[in-house]
Amino acid sequence: MKWEENVRKVVPYVPGEQPQEKDVIKLNTNECPYPPSPMVEKAIKAMNYEELRLYPEFPEETPLAAQLAEYHHVKKSQIFIGVGSDDVLSMAFLTFFNSDRPVFFPDITYSFYDVWADIYRIPYEVKPLDGAFHIRKEDYIGKNCGGVIFPNPNAPTGVLMENTDIEEIIKANSDVVVIIDEAYIDFGGTSCLPLLEKYDNLLVVRTFSKSRAMAGGRIGYAVGNEKLIQYLNDVKYSVNSYTMNRPALQLGVEAVRDEAYFQEICGKMIATRERSERELAALGFTFPKSYGNFIFASHEKVTAQEIFEKLKERRIYVRHWNKARIDNYLRITIGTDEQMDALFAALREIV
Ligand SMILES: *Cc1c(COP(=O)(O)O)cnc(C)c1O
Repeated sequence: MKWEENVRKVVPYVPGEQPQEKDVIKLNTNECPYPPSPMVEKAIKAMNYEELRLYPEFPEETPLAAQLAEYHHVKKSQIFIGVGSDDVLSMAFLTFFNSDRPVFFPDITYSFYDVWADIYRIPYEVKPLDGAFHIRKEDYIGKNCGGVIFPNPNAPTGVLMENTDIEEIIKANSDVVVIIDEAYIDFGGTSCLPLLEKYDNLLVVRTFSKSRAMAGGRIGYAVGNEKLIQYLNDVKYSVNSYTMNRPALQLGVEAVRDEAYFQEICGKMIATRERSERELAALGFTFPKSYGNFIFASHEKVTAQEIFEKLKERRIYVRHWNKARIDNYLRITIGTDEQMDALFAALREIV
C-alpha cells in the first residue's frame, strides 16, 4: 500500500505471556505473588463511583504526590507520577534524550529501552556487560554520550551496582541526564536517591508494580531535581494531560501509607528468593546473586529452551529470551513458597 512508506514503524516490545487459564503458576512477569495492602482493599470498597464523572486531578497536585514526597524526604515538585514506570520512562526518553550523541545502556537489560529509543528516533549504543553480567562503569565514563539509563539492580540479571560506582557515572555525565530505573530496589538494594542532593542530572524511577503488588494499578513515578521534573511535566502534558485515572491515584496513597505491610511482603519475597537460590543451586543451576524478585538461572546440562517448554507443559510459566548471550537462561520470578515448591518438584523431573 502506498501510504505505508509514511508510517512510523517500530518493532514493539514483547511483554511476558498473560495466560488466561486460572490454574497456572505464573512466574514470568515479576508480579508480586501477594495481594496489595488490606488498606488498598478498604479504599476500593469505600470508593465513590460518582467521582468518575470528573476528569482526574493533575498528579502533582494529588495526595499521592504529597505522600511520595514525604516518603522520600523531597519536595512535591520533585515527584513525577505516571501510568506505570513504563509511562514515566517513555516520557523521560522523549524529554531528556534529545541529543545527536548516542544514549548508552547495557546490551542485556530491560528490553523496552531500545524500543523507546527506536520509536522516538533516539540514537543509542549498547554497552556489553562483563562475563559475570556486571555493568562495566568504565563504558559510561568519559565517552561523551547523549544520556545514560540502566536499572539498578539490572533486569533480567538481578545484579546490583554499588552507589559509589553509580555516583561516578552521574558525575562524569553532568551535561546529560542519567536515569536509574529502580524497579527492583526494594528487594535488598540501597537506593541512589540520596545522590539527588549532590547531582541535578539524576532521575530515579520507581514502580508500584513489583514490591507494592500493584502491577494492575499502573502506577510509577520519578524523583529528581525540580527543574528536571518540570521539563518532564511539560512533555507529558503535551502528549496526554489527564494521565492517571482517579482510582489509581487514590489507591496508590494507601499502598504507600501501609509501610508495615510493604516491609512484610518484601521480607517474605527476599526470604523465598534466598531459599530458592539454595534449591536451584542443588538442582545444578547457576545464577548471579539476585537483588530482584527473580532469579536469572542457567542449568549445567539441560537447555533453557527445553526447561521452559517442559515447565509450560506443567502449567508453570517462566521467562525465556531467544537472544544472544542469554538464550540459555531463564528468569524465574519469586512466587509464594508453595508456588516455588511446585516449581522445584517440576524441575526435579526435568533436569
Ligand atoms: C517491570 C519493570 C518496569 C515497568 O514497570 P511498570 O509496571 O510499567 O511500572 C520498568 N523497568 C524495569 C526494569 C522493570 O522490570
